Amino acid sequence: MQRIMIMGLLQNIRCKIAEFMGKLSRYLIKLGSGMGKSFPGYIYLRIGKLECVNKLARNMKIGSVIITGTNGKTTTTKIIVLLLSRDTKIAYNYESNTINAIVTGLLSGNADLGVFEYGIRDIEHAIPDTVSRVVYPVGVVYTNVSREHSQVSGKKNPFEEYLKAKKLLSTPMKRGIVVSNADDPRTTYMGKEKEKDVRVCYYGLEIDMEDKTPITGDVFCPLCKNELNYSKRYLNHRGIYQCSCGFSRPQPDLILTQLATDKDRWQVKLSGELYNYSADKTIELDFMVNLPAFGVHNLYNLLCAVATYTSFTPYPERVQNTIKAVCKDLDLSILPPGRFEIFNVKGKDGKEKMIGMGQGDNGDALKANIQFMQTYAGDDIAGDTAFIYTTPDEGEDEIFEDHLSSIISLGPRMVHVIPGRESVEAAQRYYEIIKDSLPADFHPLSHEDMQNRIDKIGELIKESPHNYVLVSGCGPEQYMWGNLKSKCKVNK
Ligand SMILES: [Zn+2]
Repeated sequence: MQRIMIMGLLQNIRCKIAEFMGKLSRYLIKLGSGMGKSFPGYIYLRIGKLECVNKLARNMKIGSVIITGTNGKTTTTKIIVLLLSRDTKIAYNYESNTINAIVTGLLSGNADLGVFEYGIRDIEHAIPDTVSRVVYPVGVVYTNVSREHSQVSGKKNPFEEYLKAKKLLSTPMKRGIVVSNADDPRTTYMGKEKEKDVRVCYYGLEIDMEDKTPITGDVFCPLCKNELNYSKRYLNHRGIYQCSCGFSRPQPDLILTQLATDKDRWQVKLSGELYNYSADKTIELDFMVNLPAFGVHNLYNLLCAVATYTSFTPYPERVQNTIKAVCKDLDLSILPPGRFEIFNVKGKDGKEKMIGMGQGDNGDALKANIQFMQTYAGDDIAGDTAFIYTTPDEGEDEIFEDHLSSIISLGPRMVHVIPGRESVEAAQRYYEIIKDSLPADFHPLSHEDMQNRIDKIGELIKESPHNYVLVSGCGPEQYMWGNLKSKCKVNK
């Protein structure tokens, strides 16, 4: 008996020391030692181990919300943070892929709610069920699931495994809310699986815009593996679907209806009936908001953020005012540095041309970029478009297949193929396939000499005889896309 008490006491002391050291390293990082945003969590876990994380997580008055999915995690998390921080004190972390990063967020302490992005590539590199057990979240939020990272650190990562890893994050949950995209059959499936344990809040679109391009990748019913039937698709595999086995898109608790779109701002209506966890009551939403024109993919991010915020704010009476205020101030600066953006540059001939540029490192993301460019410039741009395509790496043939089908359905006049990752040989192989379907050329630019790659892309844009140039595909967020965009904008 005494021995157990002493053990418990020692563990408490260890957790306290871990917390102290973790907070100390947080402070040191703030002083500018540049050790990275997951270092305090790393220190904490070295001393305190996983059991202590549980104690730390319980310091949050309401609890923690974890956001995962393939695309849009960072943007969605940022909007959730903008919304919730108006109402309450929150701890948060963006772009985290490890428990160290989540613990770093938890260490900021004295918060009512924790909001953490969590990227899960596969079961081996992430520990989603462990994270869920120790952080004990009140919310798990799914943005969407598409195939990506078909290979992780040289090992095959089949889609089934990838989906399973994401599902594991909500598996241990016994309280709180799962927020899930109703338009995505994969996230719906994860929501359906949790309906027996917790509340599930579904969100979805109800807009005129339609994705008329063929679906990329195979989209099967997650229950019976038969083909899904779509009556409407908004963005690739996201839309209104049903299967002969009975699996279908659920009626969303929160919907976004498109009202008016012009070049720079969109007006949309948010409506629905959502359960609020903090106040244990139902909240009705039905009002219009004004947004930047930032593409259908970002409508999903916004909708997901609104659903999450409404589910957890401790002040449900403020919901409408807060959402309106945040949307009004929302601009493109919330998007990550590699984000797809549209801007004009002057070509060699002195004529202005429209450039759409940014990361699209899986099939879904590249398709969203093309769709955004079409929304912005009109469907008929293809006849006057050059596509500068930065390829995936060795072993990422599935991503390439998805990319290729989107590029073919756009039908650009010219495709300039450039390696986006490390392997020049893989890029050449992808080029050989592209040139069978579209006019194309190849530029074997190495990853090591990134400056040269960026300069060449800049040159191709300037020299292109076409009025529209799309630059998208794979590439490191800041190292390539961030730098490329700032170069092009300086020279415009
Ligand atoms: Zn089915």
